[in-house]
Amino acid sequence: MNHHFSTILVINCGLILSGCFPDAAKPPGPDSIETQDAPEIKKVVRSDEEWRSLLTPEQYHILRESGTERPNGETYAEFNSQGAGTYFCGGCDAELFSSKHKFNSHCGWPSFYDPANAKNVVTYEDNTLGVSRVEVRCAVCDGHLGHVFTGEGFDTPTDKRYCINGVALKFVPDE
Ligand SMILES: [Zn+2]
Repeated sequence: MNHHFSTILVINCGLILSGCFPDAAKPPGPDSIETQDAPEIKKVVRSDEEWRSLLTPEQYHILRESGTERPNGETYAEFNSQGAGTYFCGGCDAELFSSKHKFNSHCGWPSFYDPANAKNVVTYEDNTLGVSRVEVRCAVCDGHLGHVFTGEGFDTPTDKRYCINGVALKFVPDE
């Protein structure tokens, strides 16, 4: 009987002690620091040889040599016939545009008024051909996609026209 009683006492003492000093067991570490950095983009870097083996000659010319497909080509006809879905980068499969943001600009190239995944799309000033334009590139593989024009008066929420080479895109229809 005595033995049982002393065991209960020990347990009680332990509970009281830990209750008296709640912070004693906590390490005196610094407050947690929140990092506000934007999510890192995992870049796709390939050698010229690898790109040549992965892409068709036309894709290579546009994505890696900043080429432009001819207007009203085969890919443009396909683009106009495509329904709901997502457009991925032809070089690295990064998500770029959505059918929700496509519109018919009658310019002969696939047109979007906004990227679906803005962090995967970067723009640069382009002064080649003696004209000041804004180039659109894939942020992941640095592939050339096309150009973006602003303030043309299209009846879209952004008044922007992402004029994109169809060859640079991979369309995946919604399920
Ligand atoms: Zn890409």
